This record gives sequence, structure tokens and C-alpha cells, in this order.
Amino acid sequence: MDNDFEYDYIIIGSGFGGAVSALRLSEKGYKVLVVEQGKWFNDNELPKTNWEFRKWLWFPKLRFFGIQNIAFYKHATILNGIGVGGGSLVYANTLPKPKTPFFNHGSWAKLADWETVLAPFYEKAWKMLGATENTYLGESDKQFQKLAKEIGKENCFETTKVSVYFGEKDKTVADPYFNGEGPDRTGCVLCGACMTGCRNNAKNTLDKNYLYLAQKKGAKIISKHKVFDVQPINSKDGATGYVVKFKKTAALFGKTQSVKAKGVVFSGGVLGTIPLLLKLKKSSLPNLSPRLGEMVRTNNEALIMNVSLDKDKDMSDGIAIGSIIELDENSHIEPVRYGNGSGFWRVTAFPMVSEKNWFKRMFKLIILPLTDPIKWIKVLFVKDFAKSTSIILFMQHLDSTLKFKKGLFGMKSKMDKGMPPSAFIPEAHEIAKKYSKQINGKSVVLSLETVLGTPSTAHILGGAVMGEDAEHGVIDKNNKVFAYENIFVCDGSFISANPGVNPALSITAITERAMSLIPEKNNKTL
Ligand SMILES: Cc1cc2nc3c(=O)[nH]c(=O)nc-3n(C[C@H](O)[C@H](O)[C@H](O)COP(=O)(O)OP(=O)(O)OC[C@H]3O[C@@H](n4cnc5c(N)ncnc54)[C@H](O)[C@@H]3O)c2cc1C
Ligand code: SF4
Repeated sequence: MDNDFEYDYIIIGSGFGGAVSALRLSEKGYKVLVVEQGKWFNDNELPKTNWEFRKWLWFPKLRFFGIQNIAFYKHATILNGIGVGGGSLVYANTLPKPKTPFFNHGSWAKLADWETVLAPFYEKAWKMLGATENTYLGESDKQFQKLAKEIGKENCFETTKVSVYFGEKDKTVADPYFNGEGPDRTGCVLCGACMTGCRNNAKNTLDKNYLYLAQKKGAKIISKHKVFDVQPINSKDGATGYVVKFKKTAALFGKTQSVKAKGVVFSGGVLGTIPLLLKLKKSSLPNLSPRLGEMVRTNNEALIMNVSLDKDKDMSDGIAIGSIIELDENSHIEPVRYGNGSGFWRVTAFPMVSEKNWFKRMFKLIILPLTDPIKWIKVLFVKDFAKSTSIILFMQHLDSTLKFKKGLFGMKSKMDKGMPPSAFIPEAHEIAKKYSKQINGKSVVLSLETVLGTPSTAHILGGAVMGEDAEHGVIDKNNKVFAYENIFVCDGSFISANPGVNPALSITAITERAMSLIPEKNNKTL
């Protein structure tokens, strides 16, 4: 490293893209610093249920430094994870590989034969994340299996590939994944609480694989600090390095730290990277592509909570997502669960109504509970909402896009050229109605969907997509930002088509490929 530089690379954010980058760059001999705005959690510091707001929710202005952020935009309500390990702390461990259309659509389609090129990196990602087939079917998985049979899709029901250490229940063993180089792990107890953070050391979060190993290779991780500026040093294109500025998260008068590095990897996730880059385009990095913030996708998703009135059904039993049904070539559904007692979402729930017209929807919202009043009252007041609820996560390959712009008070969403995401996907509502009938219950959704028609997603993607040049994308096919040297985007912002399935595996695999192309430090062209 040149004496002038404190680090070779600074990585902004420690989610899937950031964690892969940290390990691979450290292995190649580079000196790496990871800056993460969220907290570093020990397992026992994670919330017991989602009613422990300070530990679960991310709302730094109120001193809530939890793992779950809920962001409200005009065109989408977005859920994402925060902390050392990023979205892996809240995610449901599910690691499906997208089908062929993902590799052939969107702004990256013509840049490579992606399905072939990425195949070995998907294998690598599965291995690193400790992916294994779920073998336990909890109540909601069994109900999904029954649903699949009812709709003639019995053969399209599968168990999920998940990043969980199953081993012997609650038994701690020496690292089973990395020839003893990794941390001890404990067998999963099937408590369903993966999305409030695994307190049992069974979920393969990034702090237990990529980040753990990166630290062993010398990477430094600073938590509770937020990066707010990246300035090229003495050049327009950053060829002579950058000054990266960060300060304590949510500190009004905190001291700014400035660190010099030769390269920067933006891995803040869509809600971290895009607002930061939009701000920098107006200040320190003006030559970023005009496409920045465009082609944002929501995986064409719907989240529908189906509340059962059968007291003998424990929907919390199992891992967060244990199975998947391929409804058709474009659509997948998964049953999602929270652990017992995690019933926060009840306070946000309204009956699911499908009418697109607002007046018709409000009319239906009033009429619907009157058609079956006793059942609706029971549904809204069930004793343990999480235990009684099986959430349908509906995802589609079909395209819908938004764009993000810099607004007066932060980032705002706008319509893009294509179809915007919808809160009323007919196939999703239809299957939810069937499912809730099957489990003797009713379907509810986030009230913003019913009242404002705003769709919800846990899979926000894009905004710094790949393209052949700066007119068509923000980064090239190797994740390098156009117009600047040694700046990479390695997180969900680079996803350039709708995967139609949970995206973390793809983010991991595509980052693995990008990092594989960076030379070892001693062969550097950096
Ligand atoms: C409840 C829930 C369940 C999910 N389940 C699944 C699932 O089962 N399977 C799946 O594939 N996906 C799932 N996802 C989605 C998955 O979590 C995300 O797609 C994935 O985490 C995105 O990875 P990333 O690399 O883009 O960054 P992220 O994982 O989002 O991490 C980005 C990190 O950067 C930090 N950061 C941002 N800006 C800054 C800054 N300026 N300075 C410092 N740090 C910064 C953030 O705090 C965050 O920790 C789920 C998401 C949610 C919310
Ligand atoms: S089911 Fe429970 S023990 Fe198993 S990974 Fe999820 S949170 Fe951890």
C-alpha cells in the first residue's frame, strides 16, 4: 500500500455485497475497512419478539438501533435489514436460484451469457452461506403442500434451500463449514424467529461466515458509523484515490472521520447506496451516470398475512420459510412465519381488498367485515398473531419499475418508464383467498396497501444497474462505476432484472464474480 493511503478499499455497508467484498479483497492482500451504520449484535442482544422495538426497529432518531428498517415511499413500503451483517440479520434464510428469464432480461441481458458465467459463483455462494435443504415441514409448509395439491401444482411444491445449521437441536459444535476456521455453531430449534434475529446461533448470518473470515484476514469493521461523502483526491476520475468521510450514526455534532483509500465499494443496499450516490452526484461525484436511481424493482411482490382461527395450528413452528410453490413460469409463493409472540404486524393490518379504484376499495373495506363479522372480529383479536398467521410471500419475474430521485427531505420515489409495482396483483390475491379459506381464516395486508394502494416489498432492487455504457447503466458488467476509477457497486442496487425469487443468493453470487476479477494485490493494476 502506498504510504499516503490508510486503506486499499473502504466498503460502505456490511450486507451480502459488502461481506463478500470484505473477505475476497482481504484474501487478495488488500487492506480493507468496512463502515457499517448499524450495530454489532451478539446473539443474546437480538430481540426476543418484534415488540422489543429498541432492539428490533431501526429508527435512529428515537435511539432505536435495531435490525429492521421500514421505509415509506409514495410508491412502495420497503423493509430492509440494518447492522453488521446487513439484511442477513432479519432475512428468512431462503436461497433460491432465479430461473432463466432473470439472466436474459433487463439492462444487463446483452452484456454476457449470465446464466453460464454465474453458474460457478452461485455454487460458491451456496457453499459459503452454508445452504442446505430444509427437511422439516412445519404447519404452514404442510398447509402449502395441501394448497399445491388443491390447485393441481403438487409437483411444483418444494422445500427451500436455506442458510441454517440444522445439526442436533440446540447442541453447539465446532465450525462445521470452513475446516475449523469459522465460529462454533448451534443446531436450529425450529422456533420460527429467524426474521427477528436468531438468538440460537443457528442461522448462518454474514457475521458468522464472510465477515468472520474477513476479519481473520485482517479486515477492520467499524459499526455505528455512517458514510456521508466520497471525494476523489486531486483528480476528476478518482485515479489517485478517495477521501471517505463518516461519522457516528445519528450523532448531531459527532466528529467526522476522514480516511483515504485507493478504492471504494458501495454496499449499502438500495436504501443506503442510492441516496448516497444521488447526493454525491450533486457534489463530489458529478459524472455518475444519468441512469442513477432508475430501474428500481420490487420483485413484483406481495406480502399477505393469512390468519387462522384453528387453535391447534401453530404457524410459528419451523424455520422462517420452509417451502416454495412455483405457481407458473413467472410466479413463486412461499409461506413465511414469525416466532411465537412476534405479533407486531397485527397493528398495521387491514382486511385485504382487491379493487384498484379507491372509492370501490373503501366501500369494500366497510362491507367486507360485515359479511362475516364474528370471524373478522376473532381474526383481528387472535391471542397470538404470529402463531396464528402464515404470510404468503408472492414474487414475480414480470417487470415493474420505479425510480428514486433526490428530494428536499431525502430520497423520493417516482414512476419510471415501465409499469409501476402494484398492491393488487390478481394472482396473489386469488391464491391468498384460497389459502385463507383452507386454513379457516382471513387475509389481511399492511393498511397502507388497502388505504393508499402502496405495495410492500422486502426485496428492493436496482437503481445502479449494469449497462453497456453510462447512457444505459450506472456500472459496467464487472460492477465498476462508469466515469470513476476503483469505485464498485456491490449490493442489491446492481440487480438489473426482476429475479422473481428472494435475491440474497444472486447478490452474493454476482459480487463473488465481481471480486474474482480484481487482481491479487501483488499483481495489482489498482
Ligand atoms: C424481513 C426480511 C426477510 C428477507 N428474507 C429474505 C430471504 O429469505 N432470502 C433472500 O434472498 N432475501 C431476503 N430478504 C432480502 C435481503 O435481506 C436483501 O435482499 C439483502 O440483504 C440485500 O443485500 P445488500 O448487499 O444489498 O445489502 P444489505 O443486506 O441491505 O446491507 C446493507 C448494509 O449497509 C448499511 N449501510 C447503508 N448505508 C450506509 C452508509 N451510508 N454508511 C454505512 N453503512 C451503510 C446498512 O445499515 C446495511 O447493514 C429479506 C429482507 C427482509 C427485510
Ligand atoms: S428457526 Fe429459530 S433457531 Fe432456527 S435459524 Fe431460525 S431463529 Fe434460529
